[in-house]
Amino acid sequence: MASFEELQRLQKIYNYKNPLVRVQNLATVQVKEHQLPIVGITIGTEDRTKPTFGLFAGVHGLEKIGTHVALHFIEVLLEQLEWDKELQDRFKKSRLVAIPMINPAGVFLNRRSNANGVDIMRNAPVEAVGDSPFLLSGHRYSNWLPWFRGDSSQMEIETQTIIQFVKNEMFQSEFGFSLDVHSGFGVKDRLWYPYAKSSEPFPLIKEALKFKAHIDKSFPHHVYAIEPQALSYTTHGDVWDYLFDMHYEQNKNEKIYLPWCLEMGSWIWVKKNPMQLFSALGPFNPIQPHRYKRIMRRHFVLLDFFMRSTLNYKNWN
Ligand SMILES: [Zn+2]
Repeated sequence: MASFEELQRLQKIYNYKNPLVRVQNLATVQVKEHQLPIVGITIGTEDRTKPTFGLFAGVHGLEKIGTHVALHFIEVLLEQLEWDKELQDRFKKSRLVAIPMINPAGVFLNRRSNANGVDIMRNAPVEAVGDSPFLLSGHRYSNWLPWFRGDSSQMEIETQTIIQFVKNEMFQSEFGFSLDVHSGFGVKDRLWYPYAKSSEPFPLIKEALKFKAHIDKSFPHHVYAIEPQALSYTTHGDVWDYLFDMHYEQNKNEKIYLPWCLEMGSWIWVKKNPMQLFSALGPFNPIQPHRYKRIMRRHFVLLDFFMRSTLNYKNWN
């Protein structure tokens, strides 16, 4: 099997023998002669109705830093679960479910798309409403161009895996937030709520704004611009729009499922170190070691905040 850092770190997670932790191979993708697993992790109670925080990354293979932010968070939690009794108690009442590397072929090949040249975040059967940017919003011209949508009636394995995992692990929950980590757009770190497909407000806009007020109040010096994704650009085929609509259709306001995206503004790393532009991964990842460490620390706080807010949603919501 191919071996690379992100896969090795996932394989290490299999070795944690903690009754609160379950790791599974959700699917396998083929790249050349290699079979690469899509690994799912669940931590906490097996009662799926309990509050659930979903953590996702590695949709776009070039944006490796997202997978690192997710893995770092999970690795720290697993270490602390060994000795922190309060943390163990927290997970008896709640769940963390995660796929830290959704597109292992893209990570392995250093490319945005999967092995078939399909952009997983343009692949779901969702059409954007109104004007959307040419090519970037998703297209069906050629898989040689970025943002290729592929076939939405026969979705890619990676897209199907996210959908199945979220339906299994999050849809029964009384309250669930998910966070999908990306990098590469703009100079600010953005926290996006739906929709990607439309600039019209999505049905749970009140919930999103409540969380914005909550984060502004209890995490006052945070760095995030909190806004709908469509404010930056609209896209076709967004998996999170697809999942949100499906869940909302079934549950209305009875149960909350709200997918967020963290888009780390990597242009600032490039501005500080323009030589990065000469590396394929440069525009999407911090290269300098001190900056890498800073990114790990910075977003750890946010992920922890998301997790505790999900568990304690009744107290601020
Ligand atoms: Zn991305």
